[in-house]
Amino acid sequence: MSAVLTIVLATLSSAITAYVAHLISLPHFHLLGGIPVGAVLIGVGAATGVAMAIRLTSNYDVAGFRIFAQLGGVSAYLGAVLLDYAVHQVGGHKTVPGFPDVMTILNYMRALVDAGAAAIAAQLPESVKFPTPVGVWLGVVRLFIEVLGAVVATGWAISYFTAVPFCWRNRRFFELKDVLESSNVGAVQEWEMAINQRRPMEARTLLARVRNAKVAPYDRSWMRIIIHQCPICLAARVRIEKRRRTAFGRIRTAPADELQFDAVKGSALLAT
Ligand SMILES: [Zn+2]
Repeated sequence: MSAVLTIVLATLSSAITAYVAHLISLPHFHLLGGIPVGAVLIGVGAATGVAMAIRLTSNYDVAGFRIFAQLGGVSAYLGAVLLDYAVHQVGGHKTVPGFPDVMTILNYMRALVDAGAAAIAAQLPESVKFPTPVGVWLGVVRLFIEVLGAVVATGWAISYFTAVPFCWRNRRFFELKDVLESSNVGAVQEWEMAINQRRPMEARTLLARVRNAKVAPYDRSWMRIIIHQCPICLAARVRIEKRRRTAFGRIRTAPADELQFDAVKGSALLAT
C-alpha cells in the first residue's frame, strides 16, 4: 500500500514538475549565471509526491523514501531538459519524426554547455577572457551543479514537508537517527521516564530492551519511537507514538509524546 502510493505520487509530481518546468524554462533559470535556482525549484516540486506519501502513510523520512525522492528530482530535471530538446528538434531543421541521431543530441548538449559558459562569462568583467576549453569545462561544471542542486533540494523539501526540525546554529536539518517499533510498552514508558529524569545509563539499558521486543504479526498494539538528531550539535527530537491494528488489518498511529533535547541533553541521553 505505502509502496504503491509512493510510486504513484512520486511519478505524478515528477512528471507534472518536468512539464511545468519545461513550459516556463526552469532548467535554464540561474542567478548570477551559475546558481541553479530553477533546478532547486524542480527538486522541490518533484519531492512533494514522496513527502505526501510519507505523511499519508504515517511514515518518516527513512533512506528508501529519500533515495526515491532524489531519483524523482533528477528524473524531473532530465525530463524538462528532454522536453526542451524535443521542442528544439521539432522547431529546428529536422522535421522528420523518429529517433534523434547522435549528432543532434551531441549538438544539443554542446549548446547547453556553451550556454552555461556564456552565462558565466557574462558575469565577469569585460577584460576577463577565458580560452574555449575552460569555457567548456565551466559549462560542464554548471550542468553538474544543476543536477546536484535538484538532488539537494529534494532532500531539503522532504525534511521541510515532513516537519523534520532544523538546527539554526549549524544551519542544517536534523537527521533521522532511529525509527524503532517495540511491543514492550512498559519498557518504552520506563525509558521515557529515565530520559526525563536524566539517567543516561539506565536509559541506555532500557533502550536495548525496547529494541529487543520486536513487534509480531499477532500484536494488536505497540509503540514506535522516532529519533531525529542534529549530526553536529546532537540536539534532538524524540517522538513516541502508539500504533494499533484495526479490524481491517490497517495500522492506526496516534502521537503519545514528543520530547525536545538541547545539545547537552541530546548528547548525554541519546548516545549509543
Ligand atoms: Zn545542531
